[in-house]
Amino acid sequence: MGQDKWAVSFKTIISSLLFAFVFYAVALWRYLATGYIFYLFNFGYIGTALAIGLFLNTSLPKKYRSWGRRIAQILVGSYLLIYVGFILGENLQLEGFFIYLLMGVFQGATLHFFIAKIIGPVLFNRGWCSWACWTAMVLDVLPWKKPVHKRVRYLGLIRYVHFFVSFAVVFYIWFILENRTIYADKLMEVYWLAVGSVLYYAVGLFFGFIFKDNRAFCKYICPVPVLQKITSRYAVMKIEINKEKCIDCGLCEKNCPMNIKLLEYKNANKRICSTECILCTTCIEVCPKSAVSITNKIDFCNTEYLDIF
Ligand code: SF4
Ligand code: SF4
Ligand code: SF4
Repeated sequence: MGQDKWAVSFKTIISSLLFAFVFYAVALWRYLATGYIFYLFNFGYIGTALAIGLFLNTSLPKKYRSWGRRIAQILVGSYLLIYVGFILGENLQLEGFFIYLLMGVFQGATLHFFIAKIIGPVLFNRGWCSWACWTAMVLDVLPWKKPVHKRVRYLGLIRYVHFFVSFAVVFYIWFILENRTIYADKLMEVYWLAVGSVLYYAVGLFFGFIFKDNRAFCKYICPVPVLQKITSRYAVMKIEINKEKCIDCGLCEKNCPMNIKLLEYKNANKRICSTECILCTTCIEVCPKSAVSITNKIDFCNTEYLDIF
């Protein structure tokens, strides 16, 4: 079957290189637009780390393929949190995005959100959530990679409440208190990022233990999907099941960390267009028939098939 060997092919190399080139193009665009050499390093580093992860994810012997994603997630997540966040003093969290929007600044958090969480998902879906997020980088250490329970209906509404509370706090400081200097010094951004990150980790670990689910925080609490879910619907990169190869064993569904009912999409002749898909590639790794893959197409479907109660 070739599953216990490396599977390096022209296609895997070219796909990884193409992915890196997208980031190198962004690096060049930002450098030429601003003259700021940091952009060359920043997007060059992220693109290279993701390309290495993608290459390993598609080339390693099957049982080790998840390492590719984890390596990319740790390389990008820790770089963004420690170097860009704490050392350079950029609060890349949602509040930082709102504040920079109000300031009319298109760098730091605004650029990050546009690329990773608003426009980027049209190309690479919610890949951010599996391949780069520094919160999930830690939550993925928990032992419940496949959910023990179904999703809890309506609990995900907390994400929307969280989103609007974050916006309301920034709105209050900016327009009611008329404090336009909240981001006047980088130290304030670092404090905000530190407090926000500690809270995210604490709540994420707590929910992970309560639900026995590494991704409980992502499903119910994190406000970022509120933005991602708008554009990921149109993602070029989506999971697809080959009907001819599939034997309906159900392993992909059982192992999906986001409780997506993949077979319902297959039976409806659709790619996995759930906005809950985080492109973690677990379904690809567990399929005994190699029937699952990431495909690149332009399509649209508006259906959520989730295992929920
Ligand atoms: S849902 Fe939030 S915490 Fe989870 S991976 Fe995505 S951005 Fe990170
Ligand atoms: S794991 Fe593969 S063969 Fe089994 S149901 Fe999923 S796609 Fe079909
Ligand atoms: S459908 Fe596949 S890639 Fe998407 S979240 Fe589920 S296991 Fe991961």
